Amino acid sequence: MTKSPLKPRPVKNSLAFPESVSGPEKSASGTPSNLARFAPLVQPHLAQLTPYQAGKPLEELAREMGLTDAIKLASNENPLGPSPLALAAIQENLSTLHRYPDSHAYYLKEDLSRHLGLAPEQLILGNGSDEVLDFLVRALVPPGGEVLSTNHTFLMYGLLTQAVGGVFRIVPLKEMQVDLPAVARAVRDQTRLIILNNPNNPTGTAFLRREWEEFLAAVPPHVTVVLDEAYIDFADDPLVPDSLAYIAEDRLLVGLRTFSKAYGLAGLRIGYGFGPSVLMDYLNRLRLPFNVNRLAQVAARAALQDRLFLERTRAVVREGRAYFCRELERLGLSYTPSQANYILIRMDRPAREVYQAMLREGVIIRAMEEYGFPEHIRVNVGLPEENQRFIKTLARVMGLKG
Ligand code: PMP
Repeated sequence: MTKSPLKPRPVKNSLAFPESVSGPEKSASGTPSNLARFAPLVQPHLAQLTPYQAGKPLEELAREMGLTDAIKLASNENPLGPSPLALAAIQENLSTLHRYPDSHAYYLKEDLSRHLGLAPEQLILGNGSDEVLDFLVRALVPPGGEVLSTNHTFLMYGLLTQAVGGVFRIVPLKEMQVDLPAVARAVRDQTRLIILNNPNNPTGTAFLRREWEEFLAAVPPHVTVVLDEAYIDFADDPLVPDSLAYIAEDRLLVGLRTFSKAYGLAGLRIGYGFGPSVLMDYLNRLRLPFNVNRLAQVAARAALQDRLFLERTRAVVREGRAYFCRELERLGLSYTPSQANYILIRMDRPAREVYQAMLREGVIIRAMEEYGFPEHIRVNVGLPEENQRFIKTLARVMGLKG
């Protein structure tokens, strides 16, 4: 039997670059020239999109600079670690990892609905609250539709809007505060979504109940309002509104919360939204079946019971924030008073330089130029010894008397 030799066939399949865009370059994928070759194949609005820049992981600093005793105060994480009850629940459930998670997270939703005083149908769970934001933008913003927010706020709002070909329009902060009357006035026919963040990341400022209620009354009924309360557990001004009090079946308002901050579970990725059940039903259609993994579900349930951990976290944040304020005043540096677990500090010099100098000393913070503050850094509250190290290092780097 004669076998015909296998001849290489000319590549002509859907994976090859079309003639008009292929070229002989040998650059690695992802380089600008390769991206340009691909450009005609992807949706045009993706060309303007830049990936979200997260705080530098400790592992990366160790790899790049060999620093093993570095501290990270860059991503507003919980310095106490994960909730101990959550850790115990994770350990107890490790042997079930061969099973898929409960796609509807029945028990977690039951617990959350009791915790929040809402019906389970009024909840949506996400792989981090980031994912719930993604559902909201995908469900409500058509190409060319408008999302209204503020400048100097969480970058994901703009990025997610761009990802669906929407228009992200910003209203300037007023003296570092969200200017709610100006946001309400900026609404247009094409506005679909308003996304606000209270307390606001990165300023740490929070608006109060009266202005919030006036704002809600002024927003026209075709617009959905999203109130992102990632840092609400750290706000100690009793006049800061709680979105839960305003949730109603006939009001297009969605609250967003996360287990990443006060509950210390950022690495597990779990957050949630709540609002009218009809809207939650639509968001649920966009959800992949197992978006919240098994361990995240059991850990979140346990963390909700961990009142002691939440109280300890709040105390550490309160004390750390007060310590930062005292020390920054002593050093003569100006900062924005914060209701969150981080603080924005003015450097009066390029923040990137301060960031780099701190990095070399093993202290990871955040330079805020992408947030529209080229001369500010943001630092989150750590453990007392981490806070002291931050202040000492900052004083040294800035040439101030530590
Ligand atoms: N909203 C705000 C304002 C945030 O700062 C963050 C985290 N950086 C998130 C949402 C997302 O949190 P997660 O996805 O971890 O729940």
